[in-house]
Amino acid sequence: MPQLEDARRYLEDRLQRLTNRVGAIEGDLRRKPSADSEERATELENDEVLERLSHDTIVEVTQIRGALARIEAGTYGTCAKCGGAIDAVRLAAIPDSTTCRNCAA
Ligand SMILES: [Zn+2]
Repeated sequence: MPQLEDARRYLEDRLQRLTNRVGAIEGDLRRKPSADSEERATELENDEVLERLSHDTIVEVTQIRGALARIEAGTYGTCAKCGGAIDAVRLAAIPDSTTCRNCAA
């Protein structure tokens, strides 16, 4: 099923990019605080943004890992709520979706 391979490639590629991004964010958060107080205030604001970004990224990483696990298990493309098939258009748009269009609505 070529569509499944496409989805897997897309998800693995996206996972790789997100993992890199999380690594970069965490490296940035771990840097030494600046000695200058004004600088430090800006850094703290930046850290809040980074932490939020990091959180969103981790949530997405978890969803993608779930999708890849479903590909492995052969349940990818099956709605987690009703057990019906998730249509290909929806999967192409949201490769890590777990529910069909009806259940998501
Ligand atoms: Zn459904």
